Amino acid sequence: MQVNTLILGAGAAGLYCAAHAGPDTLVVDHGKAPGEKIRISGGGRCNFTNLHAGPDNFLSGNPHFCKSALARHTQWDFIDLVDRHHIPWHEKTLGQLFCDTSAKDIIAMLLAEVHAAGADLWLQTQIGEITHDGARFRVTLDREGQRRKVKARHLVVATGGKSIPKMGATGRAYDIAAQFDVPVTETRAGLVPFTFSDAPFTGLSGVSTPVRAMAADGTGFDEALLFTHRGLSGPAMLQISNYWQPGEALTLDLAPGADLYETLRAARATGGRKRLASVLPLPARLVEHLGGQHDLAGNVADWSDARLRRLSDALTGWQVRPTGTEGYRTAEVTLGGIDTGALSSKTMQAKGLPGLHFIGEAVDVTGWLGGYNFQWAWSSAHAAGQAIAAADRA
Ligand SMILES: Cc1cc2nc3c(=O)[nH]c(=O)nc-3n(C[C@H](O)[C@H](O)[C@H](O)COP(=O)(O)OP(=O)(O)OC[C@H]3O[C@@H](n4cnc5c(N)ncnc54)[C@H](O)[C@@H]3O)c2cc1C
Repeated sequence: MQVNTLILGAGAAGLYCAAHAGPDTLVVDHGKAPGEKIRISGGGRCNFTNLHAGPDNFLSGNPHFCKSALARHTQWDFIDLVDRHHIPWHEKTLGQLFCDTSAKDIIAMLLAEVHAAGADLWLQTQIGEITHDGARFRVTLDREGQRRKVKARHLVVATGGKSIPKMGATGRAYDIAAQFDVPVTETRAGLVPFTFSDAPFTGLSGVSTPVRAMAADGTGFDEALLFTHRGLSGPAMLQISNYWQPGEALTLDLAPGADLYETLRAARATGGRKRLASVLPLPARLVEHLGGQHDLAGNVADWSDARLRRLSDALTGWQVRPTGTEGYRTAEVTLGGIDTGALSSKTMQAKGLPGLHFIGEAVDVTGWLGGYNFQWAWSSAHAAGQAIAAADRA
Protein backbone atom coordinates (compact mmCIF):
# COMPACT_ATOMS: atom_id res chain seq x y z
CA MET A 1 0.00 0.00 0.00
CA GLN A 2 1.19 3.50 -0.77
CA VAL A 3 0.32 6.90 0.72
CA ASN A 4 1.78 10.32 0.20
CA THR A 5 2.14 11.13 3.91
CA LEU A 6 2.27 8.77 6.86
CA ILE A 7 1.93 10.38 10.28
CA LEU A 8 2.97 8.35 13.32
CA GLY A 9 0.91 9.33 16.38
CA ALA A 10 -2.67 10.62 16.55
CA GLY A 11 -2.16 13.06 19.41
CA ALA A 12 -2.47 16.82 19.25
CA ALA A 13 0.36 17.32 16.76
CA GLY A 14 -0.34 14.30 14.55
CA LEU A 15 -4.04 15.08 14.11
CA TYR A 16 -3.37 18.76 13.42
CA CYS A 17 -0.71 17.89 10.88
CA ALA A 18 -3.10 15.48 9.12
CA ALA A 19 -5.55 18.35 8.74
CA HIS A 20 -2.95 20.38 6.83
CA ALA A 21 -0.71 17.89 5.01
CA GLY A 22 -2.86 17.62 1.89
CA PRO A 23 -4.42 14.60 0.18
CA ASP A 24 -3.52 10.95 0.67
CA THR A 25 -2.51 11.14 4.31
CA LEU A 26 -2.70 8.29 6.83
CA VAL A 27 -2.36 8.79 10.60
CA VAL A 28 -1.64 5.75 12.76
CA ASP A 29 -1.61 5.28 16.53
CA HIS A 30 -1.33 2.28 18.83
CA GLY A 31 -3.98 3.69 21.18
CA LYS A 32 -7.68 2.83 21.23
CA ALA A 33 -8.67 6.48 20.86
CA PRO A 34 -7.03 9.54 19.31
CA GLY A 35 -5.92 12.56 21.36
CA GLU A 36 -5.96 10.86 24.74
CA LYS A 37 -3.80 13.54 26.37
CA ILE A 38 -6.10 16.22 25.02
CA ARG A 39 -9.02 14.41 26.65
CA ILE A 40 -7.48 14.48 30.14
CA SER A 41 -5.75 17.86 29.78
CA GLY A 42 -6.73 20.90 31.79
CA GLY A 43 -8.76 18.78 34.21
CA GLY A 44 -10.92 17.57 31.28
CA ARG A 45 -11.41 21.06 29.83
CA CYS A 46 -8.17 21.31 27.79
CA ASN A 47 -6.13 24.47 28.19
CA PHE A 48 -5.75 24.59 24.41
CA THR A 49 -3.63 27.73 24.04
CA ASN A 50 -2.50 30.90 25.77
CA LEU A 51 -3.29 34.47 24.74
CA HIS A 52 0.28 35.48 25.54
CA ALA A 53 2.09 32.58 23.83
CA GLY A 54 5.44 33.65 22.42
CA PRO A 55 8.97 32.28 22.10
CA ASP A 56 9.88 33.42 25.63
CA ASN A 57 7.49 30.83 27.08
CA PHE A 58 9.49 27.89 25.72
CA LEU A 59 12.66 26.05 26.70
CA SER A 60 14.92 24.58 24.04
CA GLY A 61 18.59 24.05 23.31
CA ASN A 62 18.03 26.76 20.68
CA PRO A 63 15.54 29.33 22.00
CA HIS A 64 15.17 30.84 18.50
CA PHE A 65 14.03 27.60 16.88
CA CYS A 66 10.34 27.86 17.85
CA LYS A 67 9.96 31.45 16.62
CA SER A 68 9.18 30.73 12.98
CA ALA A 69 6.46 28.11 13.57
CA LEU A 70 4.85 30.08 16.40
CA ALA A 71 4.78 33.23 14.27
CA ARG A 72 3.34 31.53 11.21
CA HIS A 73 0.55 29.76 13.07
CA THR A 74 -0.34 31.69 16.20
CA GLN A 75 -2.73 31.27 19.11
CA TRP A 76 -5.10 33.59 17.19
CA ASP A 77 -5.17 31.18 14.24
CA PHE A 78 -6.07 28.33 16.57
CA ILE A 79 -8.69 30.42 18.42
CA ASP A 80 -10.18 31.29 15.04
CA LEU A 81 -10.54 27.57 14.27
CA VAL A 82 -12.10 26.89 17.67
CA ASP A 83 -14.59 29.71 17.01
CA ARG A 84 -15.42 28.38 13.56
CA HIS A 85 -16.35 25.10 15.24
CA HIS A 86 -18.53 27.04 17.72
CA ILE A 87 -16.68 25.62 20.72
CA PRO A 88 -17.38 27.75 23.80
CA TRP A 89 -14.27 28.78 25.73
CA HIS A 90 -13.10 31.15 28.44
CA GLU A 91 -9.91 32.65 29.81
CA LYS A 92 -9.28 31.20 33.25
CA THR A 93 -6.19 33.08 34.37
CA LEU A 94 -2.88 34.36 32.97
CA GLY A 95 -4.14 34.14 29.37
CA GLN A 96 -4.95 30.42 29.67
CA LEU A 97 -7.88 29.43 27.42
CA PHE A 98 -10.06 26.47 28.39
CA CYS A 99 -13.14 24.83 26.85
CA ASP A 100 -16.34 25.76 28.68
CA THR A 101 -17.74 22.26 28.31
CA SER A 102 -15.20 19.53 27.61
CA ALA A 103 -11.80 18.77 26.10
CA LYS A 104 -13.70 16.33 23.90
CA ASP A 105 -14.86 19.36 21.88
CA ILE A 106 -11.24 19.92 20.78
CA ILE A 107 -10.81 16.25 19.83
CA ALA A 108 -14.08 16.32 17.86
CA MET A 109 -12.90 19.49 16.10
CA LEU A 110 -9.57 17.91 15.17
CA LEU A 111 -11.26 14.75 13.89
CA ALA A 112 -13.67 16.85 11.80
CA GLU A 113 -10.69 18.70 10.31
CA VAL A 114 -8.85 15.43 9.61
CA HIS A 115 -12.00 14.06 7.97
CA ALA A 116 -12.52 17.23 5.90
CA ALA A 117 -8.92 16.98 4.67
CA GLY A 118 -9.65 13.42 3.52
CA ALA A 119 -7.00 11.84 5.74
CA ASP A 120 -7.41 8.31 7.13
CA LEU A 121 -6.94 7.39 10.79
CA TRP A 122 -5.91 3.91 11.93
CA LEU A 123 -6.05 3.22 15.65
CA GLN A 124 -4.76 0.17 17.54
CA THR A 125 -2.00 -0.04 14.98
CA GLN A 126 1.48 -1.16 15.98
CA ILE A 127 4.38 0.49 14.22
CA GLY A 128 7.06 -2.02 13.26
CA GLU A 129 10.16 -1.66 11.14
CA ILE A 130 10.83 1.64 9.35
CA THR A 131 13.25 1.91 6.44
CA HIS A 132 14.02 4.40 3.69
CA ASP A 133 14.89 3.23 0.21
CA GLY A 134 16.36 6.54 -0.97
CA ALA A 135 13.04 7.83 -2.28
CA ARG A 136 10.32 6.56 0.03
CA PHE A 137 9.81 5.36 3.58
CA ARG A 138 8.60 1.79 4.11
CA VAL A 139 6.82 1.20 7.37
CA THR A 140 5.48 -2.10 8.69
CA LEU A 141 2.14 -1.70 10.43
CA ASP A 142 0.21 -4.35 12.36
CA ARG A 143 -3.52 -3.78 12.51
CA GLU A 144 -6.46 -6.08 13.19
CA GLY A 145 -4.19 -9.10 12.99
CA GLN A 146 -2.86 -8.10 9.58
CA ARG A 147 0.62 -6.96 8.68
CA ARG A 148 0.81 -4.21 6.07
CA LYS A 149 3.80 -2.56 4.48
CA VAL A 150 3.09 1.08 3.77
CA LYS A 151 5.22 3.18 1.44
CA ALA A 152 5.19 6.93 2.05
CA ARG A 153 6.91 9.90 0.49
CA HIS A 154 6.70 11.90 3.72
CA LEU A 155 7.00 10.46 7.22
CA VAL A 156 5.92 12.68 10.11
CA VAL A 157 6.93 11.51 13.59
CA ALA A 158 4.36 12.82 16.09
CA THR A 159 4.59 10.14 18.78
CA GLY A 160 5.25 12.65 21.59
CA GLY A 161 7.66 12.25 24.49
CA LYS A 162 8.05 9.83 27.40
CA SER A 163 5.57 11.43 29.78
CA ILE A 164 2.89 9.16 31.25
CA PRO A 165 3.68 5.73 29.79
CA LYS A 166 0.29 4.53 31.10
CA MET A 167 -1.31 6.77 28.47
CA GLY A 168 0.71 5.24 25.63
CA ALA A 169 3.90 7.33 25.67
CA THR A 170 6.82 5.28 24.36
CA GLY A 171 9.68 7.56 23.38
CA ARG A 172 9.60 5.86 19.96
CA ALA A 173 10.39 9.21 18.27
CA TYR A 174 13.88 9.14 19.76
CA ASP A 175 14.54 5.63 18.40
CA ILE A 176 13.41 6.67 14.93
CA ALA A 177 15.67 9.73 15.16
CA ALA A 178 18.62 7.57 16.20
CA GLN A 179 17.96 5.19 13.31
CA PHE A 180 18.20 8.04 10.80
CA ASP A 181 21.19 9.73 12.51
CA VAL A 182 19.12 12.63 13.82
CA PRO A 183 20.62 13.70 17.17
CA VAL A 184 18.51 13.73 20.34
CA THR A 185 19.25 15.93 23.34
CA GLU A 186 19.03 14.53 26.85
CA THR A 187 15.44 14.10 27.98
CA ARG A 188 13.95 14.50 31.44
CA ALA A 189 10.54 14.89 33.05
CA GLY A 190 9.09 18.42 32.98
CA LEU A 191 6.07 20.13 34.58
CA VAL A 192 6.32 17.54 37.33
CA PRO A 193 5.85 17.51 41.15
CA PHE A 194 8.89 17.37 43.45
CA THR A 195 9.62 14.57 45.90
CA PHE A 196 11.60 14.55 49.16
CA SER A 197 13.08 11.40 50.67
CA ASP A 198 12.20 12.40 54.25
CA ALA A 199 8.58 13.35 53.35
CA PRO A 200 8.77 16.62 55.30
CA PHE A 201 5.39 17.97 54.17
CA THR A 202 3.15 14.96 54.79
CA GLY A 203 1.33 16.80 57.57
CA LEU A 204 0.61 19.69 55.22
CA SER A 205 -0.83 17.52 52.46
CA GLY A 206 -3.63 19.43 50.70
CA VAL A 207 -2.55 22.90 51.87
CA SER A 208 -2.16 25.45 49.08
CA THR A 209 -0.65 28.93 49.21
CA PRO A 210 0.56 31.52 46.70
CA VAL A 211 4.35 31.65 46.34
CA ARG A 212 7.11 32.86 44.12
CA ALA A 213 9.14 29.74 43.32
CA MET A 214 12.68 30.45 42.16
CA ALA A 215 15.26 28.15 40.60
CA ALA A 216 19.02 28.46 41.02
CA ASP A 217 19.26 30.17 37.61
CA GLY A 218 17.05 33.03 38.85
CA THR A 219 13.88 32.01 36.96
CA GLY A 220 10.77 32.59 39.08
CA PHE A 221 7.02 31.92 38.87
CA ASP A 222 4.29 33.54 40.97
CA GLU A 223 1.59 30.90 41.25
CA ALA A 224 0.09 28.50 43.79
CA LEU A 225 2.11 25.86 45.66
CA LEU A 226 0.39 22.68 46.81
CA PHE A 227 1.86 20.53 49.58
CA THR A 228 1.38 16.82 48.96
CA HIS A 229 2.17 13.73 51.00
CA ARG A 230 5.07 13.08 48.60
CA GLY A 231 6.39 16.65 48.37
CA LEU A 232 5.54 19.84 46.50
CA SER A 233 3.19 20.34 43.57
CA GLY A 234 0.81 23.01 42.24
CA PRO A 235 1.35 25.29 39.24
CA ALA A 236 4.33 27.17 40.76
CA MET A 237 6.25 23.96 41.37
CA LEU A 238 5.34 22.38 38.05
CA GLN A 239 6.55 25.52 36.28
CA ILE A 240 9.83 25.71 38.18
CA SER A 241 10.50 21.98 37.66
CA ASN A 242 11.38 22.82 34.04
CA TYR A 243 14.27 24.96 35.32
CA TRP A 244 15.45 22.71 38.17
CA GLN A 245 18.52 20.52 37.98
CA PRO A 246 18.97 17.53 40.33
CA GLY A 247 20.74 18.47 43.53
CA GLU A 248 19.78 22.15 43.36
CA ALA A 249 17.80 24.01 46.00
CA LEU A 250 14.65 26.00 45.24
CA THR A 251 13.79 29.28 46.93
CA LEU A 252 10.20 29.88 47.97
CA ASP A 253 8.89 33.35 48.75
CA LEU A 254 5.79 32.77 50.88
CA ALA A 255 4.67 36.38 50.54
CA PRO A 256 5.01 37.06 46.81
CA GLY A 257 4.39 40.64 45.74
CA ALA A 258 4.17 41.87 49.34
CA ASP A 259 6.63 43.29 51.87
CA LEU A 260 6.23 40.76 54.68
CA TYR A 261 8.44 42.75 57.08
CA GLU A 262 6.25 45.86 56.69
CA THR A 263 3.10 43.73 56.94
CA LEU A 264 4.31 42.36 60.30
CA ARG A 265 5.36 45.81 61.55
CA ALA A 266 1.93 47.15 60.64
CA ALA A 267 0.33 44.22 62.50
CA ARG A 268 2.44 45.10 65.55
CA ALA A 269 1.31 48.73 65.38
CA THR A 270 -2.38 47.85 65.26
CA GLY A 271 -2.64 44.59 67.19
CA GLY A 272 0.39 44.11 69.37
CA ARG A 273 -1.49 41.81 71.73
CA LYS A 274 -2.10 39.22 69.04
CA ARG A 275 0.17 36.19 68.89
CA LEU A 276 2.68 36.50 66.07
CA ALA A 277 1.65 33.14 64.64
CA SER A 278 -1.90 34.44 64.19
CA VAL A 279 -0.92 37.50 62.13
CA LEU A 280 1.23 35.67 59.58
CA PRO A 281 -0.66 35.90 56.25
CA LEU A 282 -0.39 32.14 55.66
CA PRO A 283 -2.65 29.09 56.04
CA ALA A 284 -2.91 28.03 59.70
CA ARG A 285 -1.50 24.52 59.08
CA LEU A 286 1.52 26.00 57.32
CA VAL A 287 2.13 28.39 60.22
CA GLU A 288 1.96 25.43 62.59
CA HIS A 289 4.54 23.60 60.45
CA LEU A 290 6.82 26.66 60.30
CA GLY A 291 6.58 26.88 64.09
CA GLY A 292 8.61 23.67 64.17
CA GLN A 293 11.48 25.43 62.36
CA HIS A 294 11.24 29.00 63.62
CA ASP A 295 10.54 30.47 67.03
CA LEU A 296 7.12 32.05 66.55
CA ALA A 297 6.45 32.46 70.28
CA GLY A 298 5.00 35.53 71.88
CA ASN A 299 2.73 38.41 70.98
CA VAL A 300 3.62 40.66 68.06
CA ALA A 301 4.33 43.40 70.59
CA ASP A 302 7.23 41.31 71.93
CA TRP A 303 8.93 41.18 68.58
CA SER A 304 11.78 43.61 67.79
CA ASP A 305 12.34 44.96 64.29
CA ALA A 306 15.43 42.75 64.00
CA ARG A 307 13.46 39.61 64.94
CA LEU A 308 10.66 40.52 62.49
CA ARG A 309 13.27 41.12 59.79
CA ARG A 310 14.92 37.73 60.40
CA LEU A 311 11.59 35.94 60.22
CA SER A 312 10.39 37.76 57.10
CA ASP A 313 13.74 37.06 55.39
CA ALA A 314 13.41 33.37 56.29
CA LEU A 315 9.84 33.12 54.98
CA THR A 316 10.51 34.98 51.75
CA GLY A 317 13.71 33.05 51.09
CA TRP A 318 12.72 29.56 52.24
CA GLN A 319 15.18 27.08 50.78
CA VAL A 320 13.98 23.58 49.96
CA ARG A 321 16.10 20.90 48.34
CA PRO A 322 14.01 18.25 46.54
CA THR A 323 15.42 14.75 46.30
CA GLY A 324 13.90 14.33 42.87
CA THR A 325 10.67 14.50 40.91
CA GLU A 326 7.80 12.10 40.33
CA GLY A 327 9.37 11.49 36.91
CA TYR A 328 7.66 10.48 33.69
CA ARG A 329 4.92 8.70 35.63
CA THR A 330 3.13 12.02 36.25
CA ALA A 331 5.12 14.60 34.23
CA GLU A 332 2.98 16.68 31.88
CA VAL A 333 5.82 17.00 29.37
CA THR A 334 9.25 15.73 28.37
CA LEU A 335 12.07 18.24 28.29
CA GLY A 336 14.71 17.79 25.58
CA GLY A 337 14.19 15.58 22.55
CA ILE A 338 14.92 15.79 18.84
CA ASP A 339 17.82 18.23 18.50
CA THR A 340 16.50 21.37 16.85
CA GLY A 341 19.88 21.85 15.17
CA ALA A 342 19.04 18.88 12.95
CA LEU A 343 15.64 20.26 11.86
CA SER A 344 14.45 23.10 9.63
CA SER A 345 12.54 25.55 11.84
CA LYS A 346 10.27 26.35 8.89
CA THR A 347 9.24 22.82 7.91
CA MET A 348 10.27 20.61 10.89
CA GLN A 349 12.04 18.48 8.30
CA ALA A 350 15.26 16.65 9.15
CA LYS A 351 18.09 18.44 7.42
CA GLY A 352 19.83 15.15 6.72
CA LEU A 353 16.83 13.28 5.27
CA PRO A 354 14.24 15.16 3.19
CA GLY A 355 10.74 13.81 3.79
CA LEU A 356 11.30 13.01 7.48
CA HIS A 357 9.58 15.44 9.87
CA PHE A 358 9.41 15.61 13.68
CA ILE A 359 6.69 17.64 15.40
CA GLY A 360 5.12 18.29 18.80
CA GLU A 361 6.51 17.18 22.13
CA ALA A 362 9.08 14.85 20.55
CA VAL A 363 11.09 17.92 19.53
CA ASP A 364 13.38 19.72 21.98
CA VAL A 365 10.88 22.56 22.52
CA THR A 366 8.97 22.58 25.82
CA GLY A 367 6.45 25.16 26.94
CA TRP A 368 5.49 26.50 30.31
CA LEU A 369 2.33 25.28 32.00
CA GLY A 370 -0.71 27.17 30.66
CA GLY A 371 -1.61 26.07 27.13
CA TYR A 372 1.84 26.67 25.65
CA ASN A 373 2.58 23.00 24.96
CA PHE A 374 -0.56 22.54 22.89
CA GLN A 375 0.26 25.75 21.02
CA TRP A 376 3.64 24.24 20.14
CA ALA A 377 1.87 21.06 18.98
CA TRP A 378 -0.47 23.11 16.72
CA SER A 379 2.25 25.44 15.38
CA SER A 380 4.86 22.77 14.68
CA ALA A 381 2.23 20.47 13.12
CA HIS A 382 0.99 23.28 10.92
CA ALA A 383 4.57 24.07 9.80
CA ALA A 384 5.17 20.47 8.75
CA GLY A 385 1.72 20.01 7.21
CA GLN A 386 1.94 23.19 5.16
CA ALA A 387 5.44 22.33 3.97
CA ILE A 388 4.33 18.86 2.84
CA ALA A 389 1.25 20.23 1.05
CA ALA A 390 3.38 22.92 -0.63
CA ALA A 391 6.07 20.42 -1.68
CA ASP A 392 3.42 18.25 -3.32
CA ARG A 393 1.91 21.20 -5.20
CA ALA A 394 5.32 22.21 -6.58
C1 LIG B 1 -2.09 15.21 32.46
C2 LIG B 1 -1.64 16.16 31.38
C3 LIG B 1 -2.31 17.36 31.25
C4 LIG B 1 -1.87 18.28 30.26
N1 LIG B 1 -2.54 19.46 30.13
C5 LIG B 1 -2.15 20.34 29.18
C6 LIG B 1 -2.89 21.55 28.96
O1 LIG B 1 -3.96 21.76 29.55
N2 LIG B 1 -2.39 22.44 28.06
C7 LIG B 1 -1.24 22.19 27.32
O2 LIG B 1 -0.84 23.04 26.51
N3 LIG B 1 -0.56 21.03 27.47
C8 LIG B 1 -1.00 20.11 28.37
N4 LIG B 1 -0.32 18.92 28.50
C9 LIG B 1 0.80 18.65 27.58
C10 LIG B 1 0.23 18.19 26.23
O3 LIG B 1 -0.69 17.14 26.45
C11 LIG B 1 1.36 17.70 25.30
O4 LIG B 1 2.33 18.71 25.19
C12 LIG B 1 0.79 17.38 23.93
O5 LIG B 1 -0.19 16.36 24.03
C13 LIG B 1 1.89 16.93 22.98
O6 LIG B 1 1.29 16.58 21.75
P1 LIG B 1 1.96 15.48 20.81
O7 LIG B 1 0.96 15.24 19.72
O8 LIG B 1 3.32 15.88 20.45
O9 LIG B 1 2.08 14.17 21.71
P2 LIG B 1 0.91 13.29 22.34
O10 LIG B 1 -0.31 14.08 22.56
O11 LIG B 1 1.52 12.59 23.49
O12 LIG B 1 0.55 12.24 21.19
C14 LIG B 1 1.42 11.20 20.83
C15 LIG B 1 0.59 10.07 20.24
O13 LIG B 1 1.47 9.09 19.74
C16 LIG B 1 1.03 7.80 20.13
N5 LIG B 1 2.20 6.93 20.25
C17 LIG B 1 3.26 7.05 21.08
N6 LIG B 1 4.14 6.07 20.88
C18 LIG B 1 3.62 5.29 19.88
C19 LIG B 1 4.07 4.10 19.23
N7 LIG B 1 5.23 3.52 19.55
N8 LIG B 1 3.28 3.57 18.27
C20 LIG B 1 2.10 4.16 17.93
N9 LIG B 1 1.63 5.27 18.50
C21 LIG B 1 2.39 5.84 19.47
C22 LIG B 1 0.33 8.01 21.46
O14 LIG B 1 -0.63 6.98 21.68
C23 LIG B 1 -0.31 9.40 21.27
O15 LIG B 1 -1.62 9.30 20.76
C24 LIG B 1 -0.75 17.98 29.44
C25 LIG B 1 -0.11 16.75 29.57
C26 LIG B 1 -0.55 15.84 30.52
C27 LIG B 1 0.15 14.52 30.63
